Amino acid sequence: MPKTYTCRDVGVDCDWKTSAETEDEIMAAVSEHAAEVHPTIELTPELVEMVRQAIKEE
Ligand SMILES: [Zn+2]
Repeated sequence: MPKTYTCRDVGVDCDWKTSAETEDEIMAAVSEHAAEVHPTIELTPELVEMVRQAIKEE
Protein backbone atom coordinates (compact mmCIF):
# COMPACT_ATOMS: atom_id res chain seq x y z
CA MET A 1 0.00 0.00 0.00
CA PRO A 2 1.76 3.18 -1.09
CA LYS A 3 1.35 6.22 1.11
CA THR A 4 0.75 9.61 -0.44
CA TYR A 5 1.05 13.19 0.70
CA THR A 6 0.25 16.49 -0.96
CA CYS A 7 1.20 19.96 0.24
CA ARG A 8 -2.44 20.99 -0.07
CA ASP A 9 -3.34 18.55 2.69
CA VAL A 10 -1.66 20.82 5.23
CA GLY A 11 -3.04 24.03 3.72
CA VAL A 12 -0.06 24.97 1.55
CA ASP A 13 -0.99 26.44 -1.86
CA CYS A 14 1.09 23.95 -3.83
CA ASP A 15 0.18 20.96 -6.02
CA TRP A 16 3.25 18.94 -5.16
CA LYS A 17 2.61 15.40 -4.10
CA THR A 18 4.72 12.42 -3.28
CA SER A 19 4.19 8.77 -2.62
CA ALA A 20 6.34 6.12 -1.00
CA GLU A 21 6.10 2.81 0.78
CA THR A 22 6.95 4.17 4.21
CA GLU A 23 6.20 7.24 6.28
CA ASP A 24 9.94 7.81 6.76
CA GLU A 25 10.46 8.03 2.99
CA ILE A 26 7.58 10.48 2.72
CA MET A 27 9.03 12.63 5.49
CA ALA A 28 12.44 12.64 3.79
CA ALA A 29 10.88 13.72 0.48
CA VAL A 30 8.80 16.37 2.25
CA SER A 31 11.77 17.93 4.00
CA GLU A 32 13.72 18.01 0.73
CA HIS A 33 10.76 19.56 -1.12
CA ALA A 34 10.13 22.06 1.66
CA ALA A 35 13.78 23.17 1.67
CA GLU A 36 13.73 23.69 -2.13
CA VAL A 37 10.27 25.12 -2.73
CA HIS A 38 9.09 26.45 0.63
CA PRO A 39 12.24 27.86 2.22
CA THR A 40 10.09 30.23 4.29
CA ILE A 41 8.15 27.38 5.89
CA GLU A 42 9.87 26.09 8.96
CA LEU A 43 9.40 22.38 9.61
CA THR A 44 8.50 22.71 13.27
CA PRO A 45 7.56 19.63 15.31
CA GLU A 46 3.94 20.80 15.04
CA LEU A 47 4.14 20.98 11.24
CA VAL A 48 5.88 17.61 11.05
CA GLU A 49 2.99 16.20 13.07
CA MET A 50 0.48 17.80 10.68
CA VAL A 51 2.32 16.25 7.74
CA ARG A 52 2.25 12.83 9.40
CA GLN A 53 -1.51 13.19 9.99
CA ALA A 54 -2.00 14.20 6.36
CA ILE A 55 -0.30 11.12 4.92
CA LYS A 56 -2.88 8.87 3.30
CA GLU A 57 -2.74 5.21 2.43
CA GLU A 58 -3.93 4.53 -1.08
ZN1 LIG B 1 4.91 22.20 -1.77
